[in-house]
Amino acid sequence: RKITIAIDGFSSTGKSTVAKQLADALGYVYVDSGAMYRAVTLYAMENGIISEKGFDKEKLIAALPSIHLRFERNRDSQKAHIFLNGRDVEKDIRNLQVSDFVSPVATIHEVRAKLVAQQQQMGLEKAVVMDGRDIGTVVFPDAELKIFMNASAQERAKRRYQELLQRGEDITYEDVLKNLEERDWVDSTREDSPLRKANGAIEINNSEMGIKDQLNLVLQ
Ligand code: C5P
Repeated sequence: RKITIAIDGFSSTGKSTVAKQLADALGYVYVDSGAMYRAVTLYAMENGIISEKGFDKEKLIAALPSIHLRFERNRDSQKAHIFLNGRDVEKDIRNLQVSDFVSPVATIHEVRAKLVAQQQQMGLEKAVVMDGRDIGTVVFPDAELKIFMNASAQERAKRRYQELLQRGEDITYEDVLKNLEERDWVDSTREDSPLRKANGAIEINNSEMGIKDQLNLVLQ
């Protein structure tokens, strides 16, 4: 019997690492819901909705029907890439500029309603491991397994910094830490679906836990 697995937590707590491994181990589909919020943010940045002049929320809401997102797995990667209006944007959505604007975009009710509906549809079609901020609370409140991941902000920033460095991004540890703390704050204080531990979720603090131990714990 296939179940639905919901993984939530603060930014860079290793949600996607464990979600991917879990999906591989179980033969489930991994869905990165954060990639969807990031792709909407990228659309806003590329279409003058977010610019030096500010963020035109009404314009973004009006543009929502023209934003089409889908996930597709290509031959040489296990992980599905996200496509924004037919273009593979998996790489473009990971930079610090998108990270700086994504949490404000994710506070908009209309954005959340659109993405949550699409996420729920994916859950109906396939057995999924989905990670995000509201998966156990809003998207799949009846998920059979809910995990809430946590780790200290310093440890999270350290991991994220190393990941971005490896990708050749020109950033400092302080920038990464600041971005994480800001996103944590916006994500957990917003009115619509604030980040919190879902009822029945199992909390894992992996500040001092290896990746293997973590996977084994969740599999158990
Ligand atoms: O998971 P990731 O860090 O890529 O998500 C980027 C941002 O998207 C989060 O900081 C949060 O603001 C938003 N998000 C959300 N709900 C989700 C997934 C992501 O609000 N389910």
